[in-house]
Amino acid sequence: MISINDKTIAEIEDLFKEKSYQKFRAKQVFRAIHVNRINDFDDMTDLPLKMREELKNDFKIDRLDVLKTFESKVDQTKKYLLQLADKNIVEAVYMAYKDRATICISSQVGCRMGCTFCASTKNGMVRNMTASELIEEVYLVERLNGPISNIVIMGIGEPLDNFTNIKKFIEIITDPKGRNLSHRSITLSTSGLATKIKELADTGLDVNLALSLHYADNQKRAVYMPVANRYSIEDLIEATDYYFDKTGRRVSFEYVVIDGVNNLNEDVENLHDLLFGKNVHINLIPLNPIEEFDHKKPASKVLEDFRQRLTKRGLNATIRRSMGSDIDASCGQLRNNYAR
Ligand code: SAH
Repeated sequence: MISINDKTIAEIEDLFKEKSYQKFRAKQVFRAIHVNRINDFDDMTDLPLKMREELKNDFKIDRLDVLKTFESKVDQTKKYLLQLADKNIVEAVYMAYKDRATICISSQVGCRMGCTFCASTKNGMVRNMTASELIEEVYLVERLNGPISNIVIMGIGEPLDNFTNIKKFIEIITDPKGRNLSHRSITLSTSGLATKIKELADTGLDVNLALSLHYADNQKRAVYMPVANRYSIEDLIEATDYYFDKTGRRVSFEYVVIDGVNNLNEDVENLHDLLFGKNVHINLIPLNPIEEFDHKKPASKVLEDFRQRLTKRGLNATIRRSMGSDIDASCGQLRNNYAR
């Protein structure tokens, strides 16, 4: 059976042509799914009964189930364990701020990038998520919490390792005839697949890009991030410069602060040499300790001190606000704990 919430309007039009449905039916179904959020053909009451019955035989609407919800007591953050149709599990996080709400979504079941500090990659990658699963992550959380204004693709998985489905997902969710989310309210975070960064720039999708740099020295980076053996920091800077030139979007560099490892004076100098004078932003993230990585969470004063040393060297750095800090889990940890 073909998943219909995995398809753009043009694709639905092609599929419907084969079935000899009138062309406008494609937009109607797309609208039912992405505007009216109907996820059952029976509820598409503006379609003829016969067509609804046929659609049920030929197509399916992929759905996700909430397996478990973790609600923060310090803010309105909610972390969800979501179950896919084949029983695989991913995570999504809902974060509410004064004037906006953000969802953090997973892009793959597991991850094969192997970053030593990251829980998501510990059991490898099971499979890519489909565009419809990515869309349902958003719609499911919206059904429970109301509309979100921003999407960050920073959950489990490496989005640029699932390029085709991510691209389709962005195309569908930004379609003015559907959910109509603006490209600029979407941020994609990557561990640094340089060639894919350039490919993304060429798609014209113009989403915000975040690069998980974390180390400003190639050898050091390769110790913690195997992807550094494929692409050097120089390749990444070239790719992010290209991204900025093509899209006009300021790239942000994520930097997980690991006290005594990557907040030394040499790191400040390396970051200065790499990024000074560029229109970029450094986002400092406190390490969220995981069992498999023997380092502690940095104290606030360690983060603030590092930020100040970067600022003194003329770099634009801020500390990422931590949400739902009482739900003691970073990406991938909830899923691993549940599996245990
Ligand atoms: N694969 C993508 C997106 C998912 S990870 C990427 O690497 O960017 C989202 C961010 O969380 C990345 O910057 C990642 O390096 C960071 N991260 C992973 N493990 C972490 C941990 N234990 N504590 C803090 N941040 C972590």
